[in-house]
Amino acid sequence: MKHAVEPPLTGALSIFERTCAYCGARFRVLAARGREGDTADYACPDCGKTYEAQAIDEPEVQLLGRRTDGKDDRYQETMF
Ligand SMILES: [Zn+2]
Repeated sequence: MKHAVEPPLTGALSIFERTCAYCGARFRVLAARGREGDTADYACPDCGKTYEAQAIDEPEVQLLGRRTDGKDDRYQETMF
């Protein structure tokens, strides 16, 4: 059992940057954090590869840098 040391974060905005593992694009993710266990998908703005974040709603994604793989294809996924 872990102690309740963390303040409730529901409604807080979680902002982080990541690099797409598929195409190398850099983007910033703005997610409204939910409770532990809440997850929402977001997609790389360049190739569409989806990732999962701890969030109550679909995160907003801002492209910071274009893809670095030199290709123009989309990541093969069923969504979008
Ligand atoms: Zn990508």
